[in-house]
Amino acid sequence: MKNGEMKLLYEGKAKKIYESSLDEVIIYFKDDVTAFNGEKKDSIIGKGKINKKVTIFFFKMLEEKGIPTHMISDIDENSFLAKKVEIIPLEVIVRNYTAGSFCKRYGIEKGIKLEKPIVEYSLKNDDLGDPMICRNVVLSLRLVKENVLNKLEYYALKINNILSNFLEEKNIILVDYKLEFGISNNKVYLADEISPDTCRFWDKDTMESLDKDVYREDKGDLIDKYSEFVRRINI
Ligand code: UDP
Repeated sequence: MKNGEMKLLYEGKAKKIYESSLDEVIIYFKDDVTAFNGEKKDSIIGKGKINKKVTIFFFKMLEEKGIPTHMISDIDENSFLAKKVEIIPLEVIVRNYTAGSFCKRYGIEKGIKLEKPIVEYSLKNDDLGDPMICRNVVLSLRLVKENVLNKLEYYALKINNILSNFLEEKNIILVDYKLEFGISNNKVYLADEISPDTCRFWDKDTMESLDKDVYREDKGDLIDKYSEFVRRINI
């Protein structure tokens, strides 16, 4: 693939989106890594290809279990082909254990198992630092229709069951994660990525992070931990 010849539609912090045809895009996973809304950034060779590998593995698994995803096919080490969707401007966050901003917000310690999974929403807006937004505000601002919002929540919780059960067998805790969805022809698709950049994965015995917290908190070599995650899930 010659990226130089393709039209770049969008460049984010960790991915580039190229136009492939009228209704298809190429998602290219970069080696760049950022944290704290872009305040900390680096390029870590090999990160993009791990995240792409993990994403297509999980997207395939979810698609087989009835979650529509925008992925069409694998292309190469760093990219996959996807249906062009209009991204819903919400980050859908699911939490099973306390961690990250949730602990800060409520002044609680990390690692507490929640009574039941929580689905939260953030408004995708880098300038505002992706503020949390509740269902009522989403609906009042007409960001999405109620039936779509209900579907996001339904998919988010179904994905939670599928991924938590799969990871449990690998002795890994799915602590929390972020999902993005898109719409094409009025149908909702899971989009973006599911990777150690967008999830918290803890080893069940040691509670050691196998995700981006390694980078956020300078807890060791990111590629080592991401590779260990890949090994543990056998991909
Ligand atoms: N997350 C993400 N992108 C974001 C914000 C959060 O992928 O812009 C993921 C993050 O990796 C974690 C989960 O969503 O798995 C919950 O993150 P949290 O709200 O605790 O924020 P953080 O601690 O990452 O600032």
